[in-house]
Amino acid sequence: MTAAPDPTPSGVELLQQYFTAFTPVQLAQFEQLGPLYAEWNEKINVISRKDIDALYERHILHSLSIAAVGNFAKGSAIIDIGTGGGFPGLPLAIFFPEVTFHLVDSIAKKLKVVDAIAKTIGLTNLTTQHTRAEEINNKKFDFAVSRAVAPLKELWGWSKPLLQHKNRTAGNELAPALLCLKGGDLAAEIQVSGTKPKQLSLSALFPLPFFEKKFLLYVPR
Ligand code: SAM
Repeated sequence: MTAAPDPTPSGVELLQQYFTAFTPVQLAQFEQLGPLYAEWNEKINVISRKDIDALYERHILHSLSIAAVGNFAKGSAIIDIGTGGGFPGLPLAIFFPEVTFHLVDSIAKKLKVVDAIAKTIGLTNLTTQHTRAEEINNKKFDFAVSRAVAPLKELWGWSKPLLQHKNRTAGNELAPALLCLKGGDLAAEIQVSGTKPKQLSLSALFPLPFFEKKFLLYVPR
């Protein structure tokens, strides 16, 4: 008797279950991420070894949950705080080719992976900066995004000064905000943060076990 096939596709097919209008360029870029991250992760560890086989679900689809909620208008500027190997910023830069993404991290070697992958797949709307987020004082953005970086109180303290007072770019449905991805029980963390975020359950977007207890927090400026 042979085992039943896994009903959950991996790779780009998984993304296409939830997002249907990729251009051929976007499809080619997403397809290249699997082999490129596998290759780079051997040299510089940016993704846990057990997660690299689940790259499309646990990193790319997870990053794209932000696109399912916030439709960033053409010309918007986004900062990804603590991007590590490029999440959520790099998949979002593929998704929104007319929006600029600035990916920052305090560890330079992680950005080397981001720069190399962005260059190989021809992403021209992404820049990186080796810095601590709280040290940036000369740039403003329409939105900040972030995944798994710091407690909300700190993250909001870093994000708020980086956000425009009003959207610089017409067409954004959302006001300038932090959109961050977090997991687990967030009640205490939200309470001490002094913010009142909207909390969206990702399992409502993606009915897969990985997304249980995963949330997107929307904190407007
Ligand atoms: N966001 C990525 C992801 O989800 O795969 C990386 C998450 S990793 C757990 C946290 C990252 O935040 C690390 O790469 C760390 O260097 C970075 N980081 C922590 N504090 C930071 C700060 N104040 N400014 C910039 N980066 C920071």
